[in-house]
Amino acid sequence: MHDWALPALEGDYLGDLNRVKISDNFYLSEFECHGGSCCGYSVKVHPDVLVYAEAMRSALSEHRGVDTPLVFVSAYRCPIHNQREGGKHHSLDPRDPRNSFHCQGKAGDPDSPGVSKVILARIAHTIWPRVGFYWAQRPRGSVLVLHCDIADPARLNIPARWGDAWPQGFLEANGR
Ligand SMILES: [Zn+2]
Ligand SMILES: [Zn+2]
Repeated sequence: MHDWALPALEGDYLGDLNRVKISDNFYLSEFECHGGSCCGYSVKVHPDVLVYAEAMRSALSEHRGVDTPLVFVSAYRCPIHNQREGGKHHSLDPRDPRNSFHCQGKAGDPDSPGVSKVILARIAHTIWPRVGFYWAQRPRGSVLVLHCDIADPARLNIPARWGDAWPQGFLEANGR
């Protein structure tokens, strides 16, 4: 046994991994891949995602008149997790443009416990460059997912707003 041996990568020691504050209100660990049995704690986050995340948190807190946490149910996804989420049109190459912006650390699916998804979507719509609001099929039934990313819709020639869960007339009324 050498006295310079590193502590084993297990237990509480791993629990601190990525527990690094990277902006006023967010830790790096909040953006980790949540796949389980894929990569284990891997993470990428584009600085602009943090700017929009902080702006959305501020707008949400202002809207509610009380400091309100924003969480990401999904942010970075490793290629394995992304392929499981997205089906066979996603590949295992992180550079593959068919892959989600989640693989590049340029997307997050925000939520806030106790706040309606419609309120969150309305706020996200005014902040993020691109927002998706849609129903996703899960083993226990469909769930509303709000997806936000930093894609440049004009440059990529893609819609800035997409998905089938926006309230009737919402996008038209808000000029998109
Ligand atoms: Zn993973
Ligand atoms: Zn998403």
